[in-house]
Amino acid sequence: MTNQLTDKFNRKINYLRLSVTDRCDFRCLYCMSEKMTFLPRKELLTLEELQRVGEIFISLGVNKIRITGGEPLVRKDIDQLFNALGQNAHLKELTLTTNASQLKSKAPMLLESGVKRINISLDSLDRDNFKKITRTGNLDQILENIRFASGLGFEKIKLNSVLMKGTNDHEIFPLIDFALENQFDISFIEEMPLGYVKHDRDKTWIDNDQSLKKIQSKYNLTRSTLNTGGPAKYWHIDNTQTHIGFISPHSNNFCESCNRVRVSCKGELFLCLGQDEKIELAPLLRKYPSNDEPIKRAIINAMSIKPESHEFNLNEKQPAVIRFMSHTGG
Ligand code: SAM
Ligand code: SF4
Repeated sequence: MTNQLTDKFNRKINYLRLSVTDRCDFRCLYCMSEKMTFLPRKELLTLEELQRVGEIFISLGVNKIRITGGEPLVRKDIDQLFNALGQNAHLKELTLTTNASQLKSKAPMLLESGVKRINISLDSLDRDNFKKITRTGNLDQILENIRFASGLGFEKIKLNSVLMKGTNDHEIFPLIDFALENQFDISFIEEMPLGYVKHDRDKTWIDNDQSLKKIQSKYNLTRSTLNTGGPAKYWHIDNTQTHIGFISPHSNNFCESCNRVRVSCKGELFLCLGQDEKIELAPLLRKYPSNDEPIKRAIINAMSIKPESHEFNLNEKQPAVIRFMSHTGG
């Protein structure tokens, strides 16, 4: 498909992150508050609408879609969406980010739908610490699910970890060793100020440059040209199958090469994770149930309001944007 999505900074948009729910069975410290109010179910796009959104973006030249949330695999009947998008011949890659809590039952379906690579969030390998960070998660169950999925033959599994000073930064080496043992990749994501959470982000945030230096003190790393279509910059651990990625919205702003937009579970097209510019797709989807043209036009026009970059400042009392990552889609 010819790409029709170019913003005013001449960046081509070929990557959609599609959030299918704001709900989650975990309450990770950096992502959610302990008591969350979720959207009423009737406000969510239906699975058919989510599929339509995906297909419209594909017709505009998007060739990679990541299904996200909230926890995408807790959405009822989500198989339907994976099956439908997975069959689209114009999509190069269909993938997802998950906390792995439902992976045992869903991994075979994902593979059958054509998902080849998955991202799994894992911030701790210590039972108590895992519980402290996720508030509700059970590490043993998660590790069992990860091992199960790993045996099924996905091309690549990548772990995502958000390191927080005094909470799990001491686990950086065990997390890398776990990735090495299982031939996974692993990315470290700098914590972003999204949504009001109890947590004091300016005190716990860790600069990825610091993490890189620490890792280099133990492993031989070579800068890698690996590009998975996202914002991570990769290093390869010499003589292994493992890459280490760094997603560094603060220390190494990646906006210049931004190639993605997000659609929330209620159909808001967000042009940037860290800014408020958006257009509402839900009213258009409902007004034009069998004519995609007005929706395509709205998406093409929205490219002109894609901001040049996010503006995260951890010292501000207010989060950069009030909405949680789980609303926009991680
Ligand atoms: N529930 C799924 C999961 O955890 O993998 C998918 C959604 S989650 C919002 C996607 C990614 O966003 C996860 O890797 C999570 O660690 C990350 N994330 C959430 N809130 C964040 C924040 N405030 N700063 C940095 N990363 C965050
Ligand atoms: Fe749920 Fe993912 Fe947010 Fe954790 S990071 S609370 S697993 S949506």
